[in-house]
Amino acid sequence: MTLRNWSENIRFESGAVHAPRTVEGLQEIVRASGKVRVLGARHSFNDAAAIDEQVDVDGTQEVTRDPAWAYISLEALDTPVEIDRERGTVTCSGGITYGELCRRMHAEVVALHNTASLPHITVAGACSTATHGSGDGNGNLATAVVGLEIVTADGELKTVTLEEDGETFEGSVVALGGMGVVVRMTLATQPAYSMQQYVYRDLPSVELYANFDEIMSGAYSVSLFPDWQDEKVNQVWFKHRTGTVGESDGGKAAALEPVDLGLPSALYGAKAASTDLHPVPDLSTEGLTVQMGVPGAWHDRLHHFQIDSTPASGDELQTEYFVPRAHAVSALQAVEGLRDRFKSILWISEIRSVAADRLWLSQSYSTPTIGIHFSWRKNWAAVREVLPLVEEALAPFEMRPHWGKLFTVPPKRVQAAYPKMADFKALLRSTDPDGKFRNGYLDRFVFG
Ligand SMILES: Cc1cc2nc3c(=O)[nH]c(=O)nc-3n(C[C@H](O)[C@H](O)[C@H](O)COP(=O)(O)OP(=O)(O)OC[C@H]3O[C@@H](n4cnc5c(N)ncnc54)[C@H](O)[C@@H]3O)c2cc1C
Repeated sequence: MTLRNWSENIRFESGAVHAPRTVEGLQEIVRASGKVRVLGARHSFNDAAAIDEQVDVDGTQEVTRDPAWAYISLEALDTPVEIDRERGTVTCSGGITYGELCRRMHAEVVALHNTASLPHITVAGACSTATHGSGDGNGNLATAVVGLEIVTADGELKTVTLEEDGETFEGSVVALGGMGVVVRMTLATQPAYSMQQYVYRDLPSVELYANFDEIMSGAYSVSLFPDWQDEKVNQVWFKHRTGTVGESDGGKAAALEPVDLGLPSALYGAKAASTDLHPVPDLSTEGLTVQMGVPGAWHDRLHHFQIDSTPASGDELQTEYFVPRAHAVSALQAVEGLRDRFKSILWISEIRSVAADRLWLSQSYSTPTIGIHFSWRKNWAAVREVLPLVEEALAPFEMRPHWGKLFTVPPKRVQAAYPKMADFKALLRSTDPDGKFRNGYLDRFVFG
C-alpha cells in the first residue's frame, strides 16, 4: 500500500515503513538505516516528511527508492502521558496526536496554551514545522516545549532541555525532522480553562484595516476568514477564555456555566452570527467546535474541528505566509489587491496572530507575526501559477512561508529570512554529520 499525506499530493514510497514498539527497537532501526524520516500524522502539504525530493507535488512524480532508507512511525510506541503538577509540565510521546493528548490532559484538569485548527496532527510533527493557532499573547505550539528526548543519527538517546541547553534547545525544537527521532516531549501546562466561541459576519475591509490591532486583540484567540472578494472579511471567530475549570469535578461541570461577556450584536460593522457557521459557505458545520457562545473546555473550543471528527482526505492544498505584525495591514492590502487572480481557486483564507519567540526556525522568531493562510482547491497547476504572485506581493514585508505548507519561494530567500539559519545548519552538521536525517526538503531549504 502506498502511504500518502492528508492531501494525497505527496507519496512516502522511497523507504520501508517501521513502527517500533520500543525505543530500543527504534534505536536499532536508526543505527541500521542509511536514511531515516519520521512520519507524523502526514498532514504537511509539501515533502517535509518525505525522504526523496518531491518538487512537483502533484502526486505523480517518480520516487527514488533505496532499500537502506527507512520511514519510522511512532504509532506503536508504548509511551505513557505523565503530568508533573509541581513543575507544571506534561511528558508524552512525540507521536501522540493533540486530540489524544488534550483529552488526557483535560481529564487531569490541565491544559495547553493553544492548539492548531485541527486535533489530528502529532505533537512532534506539528512542533517540527512551528504549527500555530492564534492569539496576540500566544506563541506557536512549539513554544510550549521545554524538553525533548531524541534518538540521534548514531542511535543514542539524547535529552535537550530549555533549562540546560540554552541555544541548542532553541535550535532543536522547530527542526524539520533534521535532529533525529523525537520520541518524547515535555510541554508546559496551565490549569484547565473554559472558553466561549462567537462568530461575526461580513466585517468591512475598511474597518479591519482601521481597527486591525483592536480586532485581533478582541479575544484570547481570533481568526479572520476572508475570501478577499467584495471588500469584506466573511467571518471573524472570537474564542474567549472565560474561567478556570475546577479540580473536584474532574474538569467537567464548572467549565460549562455560561459567562455573560456582554458582546454587542454588531462589531465594527460585522454582525453577530445567528447560527453556527463553517468558514467555507455551504459546508456543513458538523465536526466543527461549537460556536454561539456555548461554554466548553479549552480543547473543545480552541480547535476549529472537534476531536472526534473524522479527518477526511482533503480536496485541498494549503499555503501560509507570515509577516511581522507591524506590516500586517499593508500585507493584507497587498494580498487583497490580487483577489481576481485567485477567485476561482480559493476555498477560503484565514488570518491569525502569533506571538514572538526565540526558536531559531520559527516563523515568529524575534517578531510577533500575522499568518496569512490560503486553503486552495486541489489544482496544483493553477495554484503554482498564483503562488509566485502572492509571494512577490508579500516580499517587501519580510515574509516567511509555513514550513509544512506549499510555497514556491526560492531556497536562498527562505534561508535569508532566518537570522539563525547558519547556526541551525551547523547544529545539524554536528548532530548528524553523515546526513542520515537529511531529506530532499532539508537539502533545498537548509543546505541548498
Ligand atoms: C486540514 C489541515 C489543517 C491544518 N491546520 C493548521 C493550523 O491550524 N496551523 C498550522 O500551523 N498548520 C496547520 N496545518 C499544517 C500542519 O499542522 C503541519 O504541516 C504539521 O507539521 C503536521 O503535523 P503532522 O503530525 O502531520 O506531521 P508530518 O506532516 O507527518 O511531519 C512534519 C515534519 O515533522 C517531522 N516529524 C514528524 N514526527 C516527528 C518526530 N517524532 N521526530 C522528528 N521529526 C518528526 C517529519 O519528518 C516532517 O519533517 C494543517 C494541515 C491540515 C492538513
